[in-house]
Order: sequence, then C-alpha cells, then structure tokens
Amino acid sequence: MPFPVSDAPLDGGWHPPAPNWLNRYAASSLRAEAELGVPLGTFLPGEPLAALQWVARSDDLAAELGWPADWADDQALQVFGGNGTWPGMAPMATVYSGHQFGAWAGQLGDGRALLLGEVDTPLGPREIQLKGAGQTPYSRRGDGRAVLRSSIREFLCSEAMHGLGIPTTRALAVVASPQPVRRETIETAAVVTRVAPSFIRFGHFEHFAHSGRPRHHEALQALLDFVITHHFPHLAEQPQPALALLDEVVRRTANLMADWQAVGFCHGVMNTDNMSILGLTIDYGPFGFLDAFDPDHICNHSDTQGRYSWNNQPQIGHWNLRALAQALLPLIPEAEADPRAVIEVLERYEQVFIEAMNKRWRTKLGLLSEQPGDNALCIDFLRLLAAGKVDFTIAFRRLAGFDTSAAVDAARNAPVRDLFLDRKAFDAWAVRYLERLRAESSVDTERADRMNRSNPLYVLRNHLAETAIRQAQRGDFSEVQRLHRLLRQPFTEQAGCDADAGFPPEWAQSIEVSCSS
Ligand code: AMP
Ligand code: MG
Repeated sequence: MPFPVSDAPLDGGWHPPAPNWLNRYAASSLRAEAELGVPLGTFLPGEPLAALQWVARSDDLAAELGWPADWADDQALQVFGGNGTWPGMAPMATVYSGHQFGAWAGQLGDGRALLLGEVDTPLGPREIQLKGAGQTPYSRRGDGRAVLRSSIREFLCSEAMHGLGIPTTRALAVVASPQPVRRETIETAAVVTRVAPSFIRFGHFEHFAHSGRPRHHEALQALLDFVITHHFPHLAEQPQPALALLDEVVRRTANLMADWQAVGFCHGVMNTDNMSILGLTIDYGPFGFLDAFDPDHICNHSDTQGRYSWNNQPQIGHWNLRALAQALLPLIPEAEADPRAVIEVLERYEQVFIEAMNKRWRTKLGLLSEQPGDNALCIDFLRLLAAGKVDFTIAFRRLAGFDTSAAVDAARNAPVRDLFLDRKAFDAWAVRYLERLRAESSVDTERADRMNRSNPLYVLRNHLAETAIRQAQRGDFSEVQRLHRLLRQPFTEQAGCDADAGFPPEWAQSIEVSCSS
C-alpha cells in the first residue's frame, strides 16, 4: 500500500529512526480508504512559517521519548514549525465531528492540527501532532493558525497538568514566527508540538456514526477496531467490545473529572470534540485554575450560560459520555433490542465519579481512613471556602499546617484561619476536623507531608501565564521557560518563587480568556 510521504524530507541531521514514523492511524486511514472509500483524514504538509524560533521546549519529555539531549537542532525547529518533514513522515489532518455547547455541530476535524506520525519510545508508541501548522480541509473559515498567546498557555498547562499527575496530552515544544495572525487584534503565529498515545476524541466516533454517508458505519467499525487493537487490547476478547470500551471510557472520564475538580482546574470548552477517548485532558484553550473559590466559576468568557463552569464539569463529562454511547450504538447490535446494558454502563459514571471525588477530597484533607461523616466534613470545608471567597489552592496548602496538639488553637492555626472572614465558622469546622484527625491518630508532620504531596503550591493561574505571554510578545521567552520549570514540580517549594504561590494580584480579575486562540 503506498504511504504518502513528503516529497523532500529533511535529512542529514538527527531524527528518530525513519521506520518508526509509520503512523498506525494513517495506515488504518489508507486501509479504510482502499476498502470502504472512506479515509479517516487527509494527508497534507504544513504551511511554512518564516523566521521560526524556539520559545520553549520540554527536554524532559524528549528524554522520556528516548531522544538525545541535542535533539532540538535546526531541522527539528523546521519540522516542529511545520516547514518540513523528517524521512518517513506522512502528515495528516484527521476528521471528526462533535457537539459544541450542547448542540450538534456537524463536521469539525483537525482544522489546524497535523499528525506528523508516530514514534516508538520507551513509554510505548507516541503520536506527535502540530497545532497551528496551517489550513487543512477541516479549517472551515479558520486560518489554520494558533497565536503565540494561546500556544504558550497550551504548552505550559499541558506540562503543568503532567506535573500535577493528571492524565494529559503532553507538549514537547512551542515555536514562534513573526507572521501576523488576525484575532481581535493582530497577533503572531506559533506552533505547539503535542505528544500523546492517541489524539482520538469522542467526536471521531460521532463523525462516522452520524454523517449518514454510505459506508460510514463500516468506517465506524474500523475506528473501533483500531482503538481497541492499539489502545485497549485487553478489551479485544470481550463479547461486546464497543460496550466494554464505553465502560472503560466512562471510568477514565469520571476519574479525570475528579482530578480536575480536586486541583480547581476548569477546562472551559468541554465539547465532545475536546474529549479524549483515552481519558486525557486535551485541547487547552480558555482554561483556568480557581483563584477565590466560586463553584460557579466560568473560565471561558465565550461561555455566557456557564455550561462549562467548574461545578458543572462532572455532569458535562456524563453528558459527553452519553453522546459517545449514542455514537457507539450501531456497534452494539444487542442494544437495539435491549439498551439496558448501555444505560447501566452510563449510570456507573456517577458512582465512579463520587467515589473518586470523595477519595481525592479525603486525601486533600490529609485523611488516611474512610469514616462516616467524611464527605460532610469535606463539603463543609468547601462551603466555608465559597462563603468567604477564599483562595482554593492556598487554603488547602495552608491546611497542611493544621496543629492537633491542643484544642483548636487560633494562634497556631492562624495561617489557614486568617483566610476566612467568618473565623467562628472556621473554628466550628476546625473542632470537627481536629476530632476527626485524632480519631485516626493523625501525626501532624506526616499528614503535612502527605497533604503537600496532593495539594499543589503552584498552579498555572491566569496572571502567571499572562505575565509570561506579555514578555514573550516582546521577544523575551525567559518567563515562559521559568514557569515551565516551576510547574514541573508543583508540590515542591522552590527558592525565590513565593510570589508564584501567592494570591493573584488585583489586575488578574480583568484577564478575559475566550475561545479566540
Ligand atoms: P476548539 O474550540 O479549539 O476545540 O476548535 C473547534 C474546531 O475549530 C476544531 O475543529 C478546530 O480545528 C477548529 N479551529 C479552531 N481554530 C481554528 C483556526 N484558527 N483555524 C482552523 N480551524 C480552527
Ligand atoms: Mg478542539
């Protein structure tokens, strides 16, 4: 079968061994095209950008991929800017559809993403994808570009989420070009290189399920076979593999939602095309971390109804899984006569989420055992935070210093207590917390250590990203690189970084992030 490789690959410099670029998704697209006349995407090169330069790189990730320390040479700069390919690469934009803000949006697809291929790595096969490398057949009215601002945000947050231990697509690099890009104002172009075992979204399944075009249901089956063979091989022997896949995605998504809630992460655009079939955080756009705790916080300025507010995220995860289930229905013949098994799998979501969430809240409070009343204790702490608009990250971090040696001791617990305007309400809660800690003979130093390993000191607050972006827009990338280093270890206190762990400045409230990127 011919593999559409680039005409003039860059060669001579370092590159991952050529045969490894054979991309299994591209190969399955060629097969679906040959057998069904339905490709899974389109092969095309990136649109070149002038005067590329590195903004930031994750050399850690490169090392995890097994690449040498000097991987980032001039050719790599061209490859990761979309200006050329290494031998054996066959860049491809994939097609998907999706529900956006609750409504069917029809065909979307990689409008500005290009799958460069796949490499074998010590972590297993990894796909490498550019974001912002130019127009594709799926760009609709878009220009195929990503601006420097949003590319820096995606790079930093991908790596920050990884540092927090939350499943995510990774970011290997950001490169910038002075080429102008029109958004609300004129900005400049950048390209982010993303790395993941797969970039397949719920929307890929929805596309082939709902297009109504001939042979698309066979393509849907081919997609399912691909995903199971390469990403969920343990499900291959299941009597109903599509149902088994749904079950697995339900569990992963429920756990991911609990991970997000626990660090105060708001995704901002939880459309079904932004939901990973592997349960990874994907497509960082108008995301945000909670500052003052407001459960109804909306991080995306374009989300006027608050559909994707912090508090709504878990139920939106469920909504999106229902859309996935609907797309998988044609692959579950048994469901036509009796859909109960599918409904049961979907209903499992709530239980898995609640258990995962409660476990994370207990961990955040430093509790080792599970006792009746723990949930109320956690929820009441969150209520106190909400009532006092207390900073989410700082409150949990300071709670690690809670002193159990005496009765509730206002002076010793001042760092956390003083965060609350209503001190009496905090003291009343603290009495319960103290009793609860004593009931499991909690040792202060050990608990503090544990809590500091689950409650981050540093998160990518908007104002931190914004400061780095403003400097980068003036040509100075050092703050992006500093934040990247800092956020790789979000639980560990780092010298000279007190301000990064502090309250957001007043001006942070005026930052608006929207779908414009
Ligand atoms: P998002 O809201 O970023 O998840 O994007 C939704 C859809 O719009 C996806 O199909 C993207 O590929 C596409 N898209 C977003 N921005 C652009 C752009 N500047 N050029 C082309 N396509 C875009
Ligand atoms: Mg998207």
